[in-house]
Amino acid sequence: MAKNGKRILVALGGNAIKQAHEKGTAEEQFRNVYTTAKHLVNMIEHLGKDDRLIITHGNGPQAGNLALQQDIAKDVVPPQPLDVVGAMTQGQIGYMLQQCLENIMMEKGMKVPVVAIVNQVLVDKNDPEFFGENASKPVGNFLTEEEAMKMKAEKGWIVKKVKPNAPKPWRRVVPSPDPIANVEADVIKILVDSGVVVIASGGGGIPVIKEDGRLVGVEAVIDKDLAGERLAEVVEADIFLILTDVEKAKLNFGKPDEKEIDRMTVSEAKKYLAEGHFLPGSMGPKVKACIRFLEWGGKEAIITSLDKAVEALEGRTGTHIVKD
Ligand code: ADP
Ligand code: MG
Repeated sequence: MAKNGKRILVALGGNAIKQAHEKGTAEEQFRNVYTTAKHLVNMIEHLGKDDRLIITHGNGPQAGNLALQQDIAKDVVPPQPLDVVGAMTQGQIGYMLQQCLENIMMEKGMKVPVVAIVNQVLVDKNDPEFFGENASKPVGNFLTEEEAMKMKAEKGWIVKKVKPNAPKPWRRVVPSPDPIANVEADVIKILVDSGVVVIASGGGGIPVIKEDGRLVGVEAVIDKDLAGERLAEVVEADIFLILTDVEKAKLNFGKPDEKEIDRMTVSEAKKYLAEGHFLPGSMGPKVKACIRFLEWGGKEAIITSLDKAVEALEGRTGTHIVKD
């Protein structure tokens, strides 16, 4: 089917589901997802007949908590590996998003089909992230330095400082291989073409490698923004909208001369990235994903906060990344 209208790929950050200060009860998560879904429905209402919204989301805190549950209960219930934990959180968050979107649309008398799919993403088994201390993806709760050092000593976790000015700046990091392809791409394309609001590639997708021509899950977490970019290619998105907890990306992040970026070209984004303005594991992969999206053929990439989504789409706020 040939593509007509405009397609927007929305990537939801962790705060769309769980706030940093929350424990992560089902009630808290449903409340956050409901608020998120309201913003998404607002966007869906603004779409034309041939326009499409495609949704992806993070799973860092959820996967971190679930991995912790596997560890604590290991003498009672066999612990599941990270790929299975990824699949479980896709199911959990997909369910919450799907139900909230459906409830809000029902209230408004809207009839737009929504579906969350369990989705694998292919990675390379020789990706450098699988070796040594290269692992770069933060998962789980934020930790104080003391907590981080304790987990490092007790469990052999790799821990890194990811939020310079926060009271709890540390997090566990796990291998984050580069996504190569979305395994269920064909099905997703068919659903999107036929008008379904698809939720896919959740938590960066379930990481799988190819071995002797077969798919096999691996212990890793793929960055949701980089995987979201692969999904954007699959659905032929025009706009890649990354919704996080900051309104704009900044230069000299966390320093006295910090400066918000309103607009940058691909060349500028590459230069700033190389200069280290965007931290690895958080803003770094977002900017990298935006660069890839524009180089692939996307029209515009936007980084902003969830509550500014519509304003940013209208060009009134957010960091806009455009072709040179
Ligand atoms: P998400 O769950 O939305 O993916 P992340 O925590 O991964 O959120 O990324 C957003 C965070 O990136 C911000 O809260 C901020 O702490 C961090 N960050 C790193 N570098 C920058 C930068 N240059 N400008 C703005 N935020 C940055
Ligand atoms: Mg992130």
